[in-house]
Amino acid sequence: MNLLIIGAPGAGKGTVSDRIINDYELVHVSTGDMLREAVKNGTPVGLQAQGYMNRGELVPDEVIHDIIVERLSRDDVDAGFLFDGYPRTKNQAVDLDEILKQLDKKVDCVIDLDIDDEDLIKRITGRRLCPDCGEIYNIYYKPSKTEGICDKCGGTLIQRKDDNPDSLKVRLEEYHKNTQPVIEYYEKMDIVRHVDASMSKDEVYDSVKNILEGLY
Ligand SMILES: [Zn+2]
Repeated sequence: MNLLIIGAPGAGKGTVSDRIINDYELVHVSTGDMLREAVKNGTPVGLQAQGYMNRGELVPDEVIHDIIVERLSRDDVDAGFLFDGYPRTKNQAVDLDEILKQLDKKVDCVIDLDIDDEDLIKRITGRRLCPDCGEIYNIYYKPSKTEGICDKCGGTLIQRKDDNPDSLKVRLEEYHKNTQPVIEYYEKMDIVRHVDASMSKDEVYDSVKNILEGLY
């Protein structure tokens, strides 16, 4: 079975993907990991990708395309794969379908982790971290007993720079603009399953598992 997981930043793609990989025999395909590996191994595409990264530019779709072709041509993906956070645009979705067709494969199911922007904003901007022991809090959902102080070790809680509302709103707008056409593209094939990602991690994964059990 070949799966895609789609969801906004903070919707929980990473957690769901890890649990699926743990429970099912699927190869986790992450374009970020593949890029890092290609760069490390100094393959021709890796060298090309490194050029873009050194110049601080986004690695273009053609290079990602080559990396995906190379990865999906290996034998271990015959049991099935899981893409997490890719395709991000409709062009990438169309391209992925073409690659898969060549390899006599297809996407069987797209899991869309649905969550309101408001919820996501609270989840992310409410996050506080203890730099001393690593404990994570949220001022809305899991506050520390004393504001700004870690319950476990008494450390002073901090907020990560990326977790501010302005940069998050920009990321969410970008996400919706790019991803809505991707979801519509797969909806035409009738393979999208929406999961309410505002539930607890366990509830979200239970819903995902129900969907997967129906497919296997
Ligand atoms: Zn602490």
